[in-house]
Amino acid sequence: MSGRVLSVASECVPLVKTGGLADVVGALPGALAATGWEMRVLMPRYRSLLAQSAGWPVVWDEADLWGGPGRVLAGEVAGVRMLLLDAPHLFDRDGGPYSGPLGDHPDNAVRFAALSWVAARIAREGLDGWKPDVLHAHDWQAGLAPAYLAYGGSGGVKSVLTVHNIAFQGWAPAHMLGILRLPGHAFHPDALEYYGGISSLKAGLVTADRITTVSPTYAAELMRPEFGMGLQGVIAARASVVSGILNGVDTGVWSPEAEDPPFGPKAMAGKAAARAALCAEFGLEVPGPLAIVVSRLTDQKGIDLLPAVIPDFVLGGGGLVVLGSGDPTLEGACRTLAARFPGRVATRIGYDEAMSHRLFAGADAVLVPSRFEPCGLTQMYGLRYGALPVVALVGGLADTVIGASPATLAAGVATGVTFHPVDTLGFGQALTQLLALHAQPKLWTRLRSNAMGHPVGWETSAAAYASLYEGLCA
Ligand code: ADP
Repeated sequence: MSGRVLSVASECVPLVKTGGLADVVGALPGALAATGWEMRVLMPRYRSLLAQSAGWPVVWDEADLWGGPGRVLAGEVAGVRMLLLDAPHLFDRDGGPYSGPLGDHPDNAVRFAALSWVAARIAREGLDGWKPDVLHAHDWQAGLAPAYLAYGGSGGVKSVLTVHNIAFQGWAPAHMLGILRLPGHAFHPDALEYYGGISSLKAGLVTADRITTVSPTYAAELMRPEFGMGLQGVIAARASVVSGILNGVDTGVWSPEAEDPPFGPKAMAGKAAARAALCAEFGLEVPGPLAIVVSRLTDQKGIDLLPAVIPDFVLGGGGLVVLGSGDPTLEGACRTLAARFPGRVATRIGYDEAMSHRLFAGADAVLVPSRFEPCGLTQMYGLRYGALPVVALVGGLADTVIGASPATLAAGVATGVTFHPVDTLGFGQALTQLLALHAQPKLWTRLRSNAMGHPVGWETSAAAYASLYEGLCA
């Protein structure tokens, strides 16, 4: 079966990215093409996209979009058919997608309601003869799109909402119900009312025909209070339409064979050279495993655990390079570690895609001690690049890494080190295990070869989405 999907999101690689959401939205259209499903992506035309989309034709007009007119421009980027919502009064601003120099934009609820409104209208009415079968909304920013279809008429279009991170819920005060063009009857605990206000994410969760999240384990976790962040009951009530589909990795972008020097499962000399280059770049000399962290520096990612566990790891021969930015306290803690262990630990604060490639190419291990992790991408880069993932057993980390244990080593299937609970004891024990595994070269080589052979591409996930759409439209 084949069909058409309108994907709607606030970020899409390569145009705008603040996290894994953008990677997924950008990769899915190409991955789906082989399954017969055609996907177009609708996202805002932020200031950073004005020049790039300057000559694009206008394919949709919206007279009244919360304080000004809107238009949709159509173009193609990296093989993906893009629809950009041009509404300068909402999106032509300094800063990133959600915030400017003064912090979060105060009208974010309206900005992304506008995106969702236009998505629902295009899905319902079609665009120049292109009528989607499915509207696929991502996260709270697009959460109102299924709601607008449900409350305003769907035109036969089915809807899917994917939760990439339940922590962001798109809350607005109750008095905005009418402003957001939502019906009074929807202001109800069984609908979109949430803690006395409106949650766009909850609106999507209660109205979408299907709910997905980005790993099977996170799908199950979301129904528990420890992970559901207040929405566990809402998701549990819709359990029959909830599923988890793992993200893939863009293996065109993340390919050890394409790095400089290139390497691969059968030609690991390049990896040794990359490790040496990495040590030289950061002034490190590391006799044991060289670990990396490439991450937002937040409590979610367990970065606060590093100061307690890294000293013993370093004493045991290990080294660490941290690349990330985020919480100033955690940035400071990572800087302090580097100052305390010169030649063994280095910290770079910032976002640097090219550097992240060098890190994965040269590293022996990547540390992902997240408290929750809907899917996670860096452990998959680690698998592909032979940087053994050391991960907390949560969410997508639990679904993608097979921890070394007597059983998995005997079966020859281990691909990394896993730990739970997510605390300094668990993480410290995992690093001790990493040191011990690294000290056994034959075993280490086997683990690394298992890791590099683990499929992390989009094929399986794309097939799962295609079958979800097929089930919906059958
Ligand atoms: P999240 O979306 O929660 O931040 P993911 O692991 O799903 O976590 O995706 C994070 C993405 O951002 C990965 O592609 C990762 O490599 C990238 N990334 C995070 N921090 C940095 C950084 N400082 N420099 C380069 N890339 C980064």
